Amino acid sequence: MKYRCYACGHVFEDGEQARWSESRGEFWGAPCTEEMSGCPVCRSEYYGEITKCAICGEEHSEDELNGGVCDECINARRKDFTMCYRVSMMQSEKIYINSLLASLFEPCDIEQILKEYIRDRWKDVDCSPFIDEDKSWFGERLAEEVNRR
Ligand SMILES: [Zn+2]
Ligand SMILES: [Zn+2]
Repeated sequence: MKYRCYACGHVFEDGEQARWSESRGEFWGAPCTEEMSGCPVCRSEYYGEITKCAICGEEHSEDELNGGVCDECINARRKDFTMCYRVSMMQSEKIYINSLLASLFEPCDIEQILKEYIRDRWKDVDCSPFIDEDKSWFGERLAEEVNRR
């Protein structure tokens, strides 16, 4: 297990914490001390666990990850329609369209038409609205898809 100090940024292994005891005065005549642990560099007690991003392996503190994946890895896929489509594969959502069109086309036809429409605009498609709706769900699914290869 690894930790990062929130005060100075130092990264250290479990067991490397600075340990000391602080006097808390006396209790019924016996000296009372509290066991402390902190960053080995600056002794700050504010440090937290760090984990490797499930895609690039970069080390981050837990609150910097989305479903185990760092922001850089997610941002790199914002315009990657093909990858985002794979991530979204099992998800479907209801929409309302014109009744005549609805009776003429099956859902899979409509999807096919939209995918063909998007093919010409590939690089301009920004998948951010889908990604940001639930970033940690996206991160988790993205890691599955990327690591599947
Ligand atoms: Zn520190
Ligand atoms: Zn990453």
